[in-house]
Amino acid sequence: MSDYGTVKPFASSEVEKRPDQNVSTSLDTNGENIVRNDWTREEIAALFDQPFDDLVFQAATVHRANHKAGEVQLSTLLSIKTGGCPEDCGYCNQSAGAKSGLKAEKLLDVRTVLQSAAQAKDRGSSRFCMGAAWRNPKNRDMPAIIEMIKGVRQMGMETCMTLGMLTKEQSEMLSEAGLDYYNHNIDTSPEHYEKVITTRTFGDRLETLENVRNSGINVCSGGIVGMGETREDRVGFVHALATLPRHPESVPVNALVPVKGTVLGDMLADTPLAKIDDIEFVRTIAVARITMPASMVRLSAGRESMSESTQALCFLAGANSIFTGDKLLTTGNAGDDADETLFAKLGLVPMAAEQRDCALEAAE
Ligand code: SF4
Repeated sequence: MSDYGTVKPFASSEVEKRPDQNVSTSLDTNGENIVRNDWTREEIAALFDQPFDDLVFQAATVHRANHKAGEVQLSTLLSIKTGGCPEDCGYCNQSAGAKSGLKAEKLLDVRTVLQSAAQAKDRGSSRFCMGAAWRNPKNRDMPAIIEMIKGVRQMGMETCMTLGMLTKEQSEMLSEAGLDYYNHNIDTSPEHYEKVITTRTFGDRLETLENVRNSGINVCSGGIVGMGETREDRVGFVHALATLPRHPESVPVNALVPVKGTVLGDMLADTPLAKIDDIEFVRTIAVARITMPASMVRLSAGRESMSESTQALCFLAGANSIFTGDKLLTTGNAGDDADETLFAKLGLVPMAAEQRDCALEAAE
């Protein structure tokens, strides 16, 4: 007998009829995976609108058809150049216009970055992400950036950088240095975008993504939910990613961390919009998983304030990547101890670095 006693089943008359479940999936009738780039907003809205358990079940099915269940990629993020950014992203305390008290710093030296990477590797990370608070990198910074990429790759880790907008030439230089991934988030729907950022356009973001893609670097692109956007905006956000000519290999989904002194932090703090509803957050993860079945879906900022149960639902709904450590670029993160405990409770294991990268190293 179950520890929970005898469960009385609902009489059939008590069970409400579910809404029509005729929704699109990325699995065909044989359960084979199909990667689609022609999703419509209506299809994505219908995925969001499903009963929660149907949506999570569908996402988990897609996840298991494309990835090893129970394996989660661990990445570590280091801010290599903090603060003083000329952009005005309303969520970011690194913007020069934010009044969060964050001190602007210079680009870290290569040795410091490589020491941090070695520590991250010792703690089990397979990817090392380096972020600089720039509108775009200057040509004088490129030699140090290239040394960092080469040094981290020599340790056997995947490399990822986020440096702002890139020209074609800069993308080529990073590609030649061996950069595995470039992060450049679209942030939100095209419609909500200008309520969050005014110093560069949604089109500028797409142009950098295209330069990165064309240079052969893998694309990491996602966004932030909980920025006062509507469900329709979340549909538009997933739609913009899922209809790119090729899906990003990594899709970080962040929950806004409202920091006082930032535009959004001050606007949303102490309002019901200060935190995205947990169930709506899991729905966003699930829809990202279904529409971009082969991508890594990363639980990013906001995990620190998420319950273990919500995180467990996110993993069930197809999230298979997290940032480890106590800190993201400048905001708090769940921390290694909390993650170890959670992984043990849920029976999750860290994913090894991709074989592809070992092969690349052997070829060097
Ligand atoms: S998100 Fe990036 S580009 Fe925007 S203000 Fe922050 S550091 Fe600058």
